Amino acid sequence: MNDNRVIDIAIIGAGASGLMLGSLLKDMDVVIFDGNSKAGAKLLVSGGGKCNITNEWVEPMHYLGNPHFINEVLRHFDQYSLLEWLRERGLDPIVKGNSQYFCPKSSSQILDIFKRENSDNLLYLNQKVVDIIRKDLLFQIETASEVYRAKRVIIATGGLSFSILGADDIGYRVAERFGHTITPTAPALVGFTLQKEQFFFKELSGISTDVEIKVDGHNCLGALLFAHRGISGPAVLDASLYWHRGQIEIDFMPGWNLEDHYRSKKSISSLLPMPKRLSKALLEHYSIPDLPTHRLRVEDREKIVGLKNYRFSPSGTFGYGKAEVTKGGICVDEIDSRSMMSRKCKDLYILGEVMDVTGRLGGYNLQWAFSTAYICASSLQKSR
Ligand SMILES: Cc1cc2nc3c(=O)[nH]c(=O)nc-3n(C[C@H](O)[C@H](O)[C@H](O)COP(=O)(O)OP(=O)(O)OC[C@H]3O[C@@H](n4cnc5c(N)ncnc54)[C@H](O)[C@@H]3O)c2cc1C
Repeated sequence: MNDNRVIDIAIIGAGASGLMLGSLLKDMDVVIFDGNSKAGAKLLVSGGGKCNITNEWVEPMHYLGNPHFINEVLRHFDQYSLLEWLRERGLDPIVKGNSQYFCPKSSSQILDIFKRENSDNLLYLNQKVVDIIRKDLLFQIETASEVYRAKRVIIATGGLSFSILGADDIGYRVAERFGHTITPTAPALVGFTLQKEQFFFKELSGISTDVEIKVDGHNCLGALLFAHRGISGPAVLDASLYWHRGQIEIDFMPGWNLEDHYRSKKSISSLLPMPKRLSKALLEHYSIPDLPTHRLRVEDREKIVGLKNYRFSPSGTFGYGKAEVTKGGICVDEIDSRSMMSRKCKDLYILGEVMDVTGRLGGYNLQWAFSTAYICASSLQKSR
């Protein structure tokens, strides 16, 4: 497949941002490289196979990163522009959970659009890029078996999460080589592992309950799932975005107060707003008798109130293998928000998750990938 000619635009990564960029670059000489044998592997598994494409509410507050930069990017291609672009191509996403937009049937619906829109572009699959250097004003792209030359290179290689879907560190390595600062990376949107004191959670594996988690000044509401390895579920994944070691605080009974139930004749296990198996297990763990509230001792009532601000330090996370995204990455101060071009290296562009912007759970990361691709495409088209 060696290409002796000079490629005009080489996109490294046929994921969300790379495929969107290719779709928007009509009549240009575009080659998309990917180490996988198929394009869009992560897109296919996103959102439980239905791809949570975007959200009704998309603001800088839904991201970890430089709010000014994030705002500049989102305002040029927001959720409404994305939805319109998809509808024009026959995909009408449906809303779930009040504000999250998903593919109605499966993620392959959005991938089919990208395949169609990229049909004029060359897609070099099974071409894992191992290095990119600058030579004679051109970029030299090295894969395991070939060397290509390109005028412009787009890093759309995503983060480090889910290496089984093709993730690797090439984006960070190349950026660093060209003088970029890399904010330390960590797995995010991921479950927490536990310390010894919370090992009893593991016996509750499979139970899900609504909670509010406070971490680093942020409140994360939603379901917590007790898992074999620790805790997971939407509220925990969101909390992991803001966690940097240290304590988190869980309210196992958001919006519920014990004082409102003093007169009830029901036993406390039936009163607690959580699955009965969980309330029984918590009562047993804390040696609280299962009696109506007014018959409980003061110290037992205090233990129950303590479940509204249960503090502990997770021992770690489930790691990159289970994380939906990677936080940290290429510092955005060194990227031009009007073009996504590197401020350190002319004709090098950076898109999507590889940069130091990470969204909460809810479609924010795909929106980011698509918005950065849109800005880059507009700039490349103008430069023709
Ligand atoms: C299980 C799971 C579920 C998710 N669900 C959602 C969701 O519902 N909504 C949401 O907003 N976000 C979701 N995300 C996150 C979202 O998928 C990513 O943030 C998004 O895909 C990032 O887009 P990207 O273009 O930056 O990178 P990616 O989509 O990851 O694409 C990067 C591409 O680069 C390729 N690549 C990497 N290294 C090389 C190399 N050396 N050579 C050649 N190619 C290379 C990869 O194979 C990949 O195809 C989910 C992630 C996971 C893992």
